Amino acid sequence: MSRDRKAKSAKRMDALAERYLSPLKFFQAFCPACFLTQKSTDRHRNIRDCPVIKELGWDAYVDFKASLRYTPGTCCYYCGVPALGDRLHAVMTGGPGNCDYSDIAAVIAFVAYKAEPVRSALQAFAGINFSNDNMYSSWLVRKPVTTGYIDIVTNLMMLVVWAGENRGEHAPILES
Ligand SMILES: [Zn+2]
Ligand SMILES: [Zn+2]
Repeated sequence: MSRDRKAKSAKRMDALAERYLSPLKFFQAFCPACFLTQKSTDRHRNIRDCPVIKELGWDAYVDFKASLRYTPGTCCYYCGVPALGDRLHAVMTGGPGNCDYSDIAAVIAFVAYKAEPVRSALQAFAGINFSNDNMYSSWLVRKPVTTGYIDIVTNLMMLVVWAGENRGEHAPILES
């Protein structure tokens, strides 16, 4: 690759990293489950303390997270976040302790699937009616075909970006 093309591709990667980082940082600060369902903006030290996840079922969440079979090498096995050079996720081989974003993407996908009205919004956005859990899990680990999102690594991460980019709709909860 010429130096010029290298610089261009690095720039594109930086822009893509920014697109991931903006929602990831936001959902590090606000619980994505509480935020999407507009329940509260409380912070929980652990996602186990989240009232929304408790209501939907902790075991169901754990099972759901385990059902996501990522294509090896495309993203971190624990959090679903890609490395993108090492712009997003430096250590891919460690345990969950190396993840800065371990309960963000899966939480968003779980809540979006389980809780109305987020589910309707998700299905409208994706253009799919998810008829069962398996269909949803396998859709999540595929590459997006949605216009404007094809550079994103998986549909799972597309949902993170989507939730982040639509957070203006939830602005009232931030002000209360
Ligand atoms: Zn919560
Ligand atoms: Zn990770």
